[in-house]
Amino acid sequence: MADGKIQVLILGSGPAGYTAAIYAGRAGLRTVVYEGIQPGGQLTTTTDIENFPGYPQGVSGQQMMDDFKAQAERFGTEVRFGIATKADFSGKPLKVEIDGEKWIEAESVIIATGATARYLGLESEERFKGQGVSACATCDGFFYRKKDVAVVGGGDTACEEATYLASLCNKVYMIVRRNVLRASKAMQERVFNTPNIEILWECQTKEVLGNDMGVTGALLRHNDGSEKTIAIDGFFLAIGHHPNSDVFKEWIETDSEGYIITQGKGCRTSREGVFAAGDVQDPTYRQAINAAASGCRAAMDAEKYLASQKA
Ligand code: NDP
Repeated sequence: MADGKIQVLILGSGPAGYTAAIYAGRAGLRTVVYEGIQPGGQLTTTTDIENFPGYPQGVSGQQMMDDFKAQAERFGTEVRFGIATKADFSGKPLKVEIDGEKWIEAESVIIATGATARYLGLESEERFKGQGVSACATCDGFFYRKKDVAVVGGGDTACEEATYLASLCNKVYMIVRRNVLRASKAMQERVFNTPNIEILWECQTKEVLGNDMGVTGALLRHNDGSEKTIAIDGFFLAIGHHPNSDVFKEWIETDSEGYIITQGKGCRTSREGVFAAGDVQDPTYRQAINAAASGCRAAMDAEKYLASQKA
């Protein structure tokens, strides 16, 4: 991309960010994407994606994101490493600080920073992060081949991670706090039909146990008050996500959980020229296809906004 003013600055490189880039680039707008903490976004930590239309045989998350990126670059988008650390949306141009060291100016900004995995908040969990505690089975499952592990949660992510881990590990416990799974019927069936997954119903984790070598077990409390210890080498969290909006909260409206509020069917935020797309503004649907669709809308909204500024 030639030097000059950035017309569309996109923060985040998941399906929302790259789709916005494809549309903005094709519209002839000078577009820059900052990849953020997890280049390619959450899909790069997934195995096969079977529900994105156009891939009858499924596609790996990494492959899909490589393709998104290549398509964005084909239309002139410049993709840069870097994380948004501050924003100043007080005037024009809009300003975003990258990596705590340089300010980037742009005529419009699309926030597509996604969401990050939640943890239980236990001190012992914090202590063993990276030493047996993980929020990404597809990233770290490899290290637990033929071992026993646990997955916390009862949603689609937990089921997906448990079945993935079951293909590598000796045994997978699912620690579920209620007596039902929140996951879709299809995912539940997959779990129920996997012989080396055992669901520990109505259990919560009191402590992650371990030593200098890492995790060795977990102390669980059943809802009836009884406690038991399971022996495990890996403890995987799959209890939902937190929207990555903290950097922008001073300038734009968010809901009580931090999801950016967008107006109507479009992607406008409460600040002129700033748009939001993907999981950072979607507490409900949170699927790649929805993120991509909102990236398209954000780019079209930005294009319209930029045209209105010239008129
Ligand atoms: P969800 O919010 O759907 O599920 C979170 C799970 O974690 C729930 O079972 C919840 O329990 C449990 N949980 C939350 N907090 C705690 C806690 N403190 N202690 C113990 N358990 C806890 O999140 P997911 O990440 O699973 O899914 C997010 C969205 O993404 C959903 O819309 C889902 O359908 C979608 N998704 C779709 C996939 C696909 O289609 N292939 C794959 C992965 C995700 P409780 O039920 O009691 O609240």
